This record gives sequence, C-alpha cells and structure tokens, in this order.
Amino acid sequence: MSEASLSTTGCELPPRLRQAILQARKSSEAPMAAFFYDLDALAHHADEMYAALPEGVELYYAIKANSETPVLETLASRVDGFELSSGGELSRAASCATPRPWLLSGPGKLDSELEEAIKRGVSAIHLESLNEIDRLAVLARRLDQVQPVFVRINPALPEAYATRLNMAGRATPFGIDESELPEAIMRIEACDHLVLKGFHIHAMSHQADSTRHAALIAHYLERWPVWRALARYPERLTHLNVGGGLGVDYVHGRHFDWPALCTEVATLRNAMTAPPVVRFEVGRFLSAFCGYYVMEVLDRKTSHGEHFLICRGGTHQFRLPPAQGHDHPVLHLPRQVPPTDEAGRRWSVVGQLCTPKDVLSRGRELGGVSVGDLLVLPLAGAYGYNISHADFLCHPRPRLHFLPVESTGPVNERSLAAVSEAGP
Ligand SMILES: *Cc1c(COP(=O)(O)O)cnc(C)c1O
Repeated sequence: MSEASLSTTGCELPPRLRQAILQARKSSEAPMAAFFYDLDALAHHADEMYAALPEGVELYYAIKANSETPVLETLASRVDGFELSSGGELSRAASCATPRPWLLSGPGKLDSELEEAIKRGVSAIHLESLNEIDRLAVLARRLDQVQPVFVRINPALPEAYATRLNMAGRATPFGIDESELPEAIMRIEACDHLVLKGFHIHAMSHQADSTRHAALIAHYLERWPVWRALARYPERLTHLNVGGGLGVDYVHGRHFDWPALCTEVATLRNAMTAPPVVRFEVGRFLSAFCGYYVMEVLDRKTSHGEHFLICRGGTHQFRLPPAQGHDHPVLHLPRQVPPTDEAGRRWSVVGQLCTPKDVLSRGRELGGVSVGDLLVLPLAGAYGYNISHADFLCHPRPRLHFLPVESTGPVNERSLAAVSEAGP
C-alpha cells in the first residue's frame, strides 16, 4: 500500500485503515478513543525517504517523535540509526530486536544516563555544555572506554532562517555558542577517552520550505571548515549532523519537499573539496503520516450558534492540535445514515475534558454527523499520544493498534550493513 507516500496530504482514509477501525469498534462495547498506526505506510515512507538520500548523507530517526516499540522495529532496518534524548529512550532502543547505531543528545543528561550509554556502546554522544564535557571525560576515563563525541553548536544564524520553533541562533539551553567552541574542543582533546568526530546542530522544528532549509545547511557547510580547523587534527572530524525539523503541514497538507532537499544537499557537497558526511536525524517527518487518532461521537449540541461534536477522548490523549495551535483535519467515518438536512454544517470537535481548551478542531465542514459515528484525525503519528497528559480526569488510556507491515519492501542494504561498522 502506498497511500502514505511522500506526496500524501494525510487527509484521506486508506481502505485498510477504515476496515481496521470498524473492526476494532465492533469488538468493543465502549465508545472508541484509540490510536491506529499503519506500519506498512510507515515502512514505505521511510524506504522512499532513504532511497532519495544522496551519497555521503545519512538518515537517523529521532525517536522522541514516537518511540512505540512497533514503530522502532519497523524503522530500525530502514534508517541508519536512532537519535535518543534520555535514559528512557535508551532503554526503548535497547529493547528493539534489530541493533542499530545510537546517538545521545539533549540537555541535562544524567551521569547515570551517560554511563549507561557508554557501556551500551552508543555511537556518539552530543555534548551540550562545557560542564557536560568535563563530566563525560571523568566517566569515560573511569570506564576506560574511548567515546566518540560531537559538539552541539548553537551558531549565530541570520534572522532569515527562523521558523516557528527555534533551538539555535538565539538564547536557548541547547548546544554551545560558537564563541565557546575553541574551549569545548580543547577540553575534549585534553581527554584521552573522548574523540571528537564532528558537530551537531538542530536549529528548528516546523521547517516548511526545502529551499530555506537547504540555505541553512549551506550556511553550516560554509562554517564547517572554520569549526573543523579549531581541532588539533581537523581531518579526524568527519561528520556534520544537521538535525531534524522538517515540517508537516497539518492545515493545508503541503508537506516538506524531501527529495528537493536531498538534491540540494548533493549539489552542496559536490561543490566542496572535503565535504563531511551529512547526517539527518528526523523525527516528525518520518512518523507523523502513519498515525490516526479515532474518536467516537458521544453527543452533539448547539451552543450560542456554534455546533459541537463531543467525542470520546480529547486533547489529553492527542495534545498535538492545541500544542501547535491549529485546527486539526478531521475525517468522518459514519456508522449511521447521515441526517440529510445538515449538508455543509460546520462543527467544533471537542473531547470529554471539563475545560474549554479541549478543542481538537473548529469550523470543520463535516455535514451531517450522528452520535455513534467515528471521527478520524490523521497525521497523528508524531508528537501525538506521547506528548499528551493521558491521566487527566482519570479517563482510561486510549488503545494503540498497530497495522502490520505487509510487504518487506526495499529494506536498505546500506543501512543494515552499517550495523557492523564501528564508529559514529
Ligand atoms: C526533537 C529533535 C529532533 C527531531 O526533530 P523533528 O522536528 O521531529 O524532526 C532531532 N534532533 C534533536 C536534537 C531533537 O531534539
């Protein structure tokens, strides 16, 4: 099945999904609030993304977008590795049957997490502060292991590169300012147990435009020789991790143009004499398309002229729309014959919480909708359930359904071969 390909808007319900949802509804007495993850679509999407990668460019999955085990199992053989940001994520990745290279980033890493990562042979640790360099140096020395590291840089960035959510180019808790880079590199080089492999920059989320993103990467690549020259042995620095941040357009369905970005990065690398390996660590854009949140209509009413559909579940299970401040797309899966006199009717889709903030979508033109019908919110595979506050109001947690991978597809040979290679 290829519905969820790179060009998908996420606004149609694939027949397989529809069937699985109706089937699950039949087997339960209670009204439905559940997530469905189409692992086959996820596999196809990842394979397409991987196939577009040019020479010298790698694709990692940032698992904080969705770290459910079946998602990790599906992606493990389809990407170059996983990017992790906590001890909990390290455990999730470690329980995955297919061993993959790991990167550990994030502010406020615990000593216990760093130690665990070293012992488990993490491919690279991304260092976010001078203190963290010192702490890791002590740990690596004590464990007598040589640990490859990257310095996460918070570079000065032209204002033109800003998006809705910036992690770099301004004051943030992430990475090390360029002015402190010489000191950071000196401290790493002073420790026999740390080897600097390259630099890491994850500057933003919600990047909508591939041309702007390519310009940002061009800027990093321009800085690369300057940063690298700060090292005692510059030629030993081989990798530039350019982070994730590719946008999903929840409102208009005009998603990020990944193939165009890949082409531009190839051109940029080809123009350099000694280009680094460019590494992406993508979260949202890998897993968003495979997920669907399904809510059953419990009640309908009109209040002060506005029509409401009150549904099982709510924003405590799918916090993404209020967290992003958008009206999420909604698909209608009728279980009754729709009332005919309500064609074109617009609805506000809300959950069961006792707060006016529990709104998933306003002004949805769904026409006639009956109590007992199902509403399906697509594009729910990233930062959906896992960023939510599911115990609020003591509601039962939603069920998670995983639709299996049907075809094995073109699992990547290069990606699987990388498992046996040492180093980052
Ligand atoms: C969250 C995060 C990512 C992934 O970001 P997306 O916007 O989901 O692609 C990548 N790298 C780091 C360091 C992150 O914190």
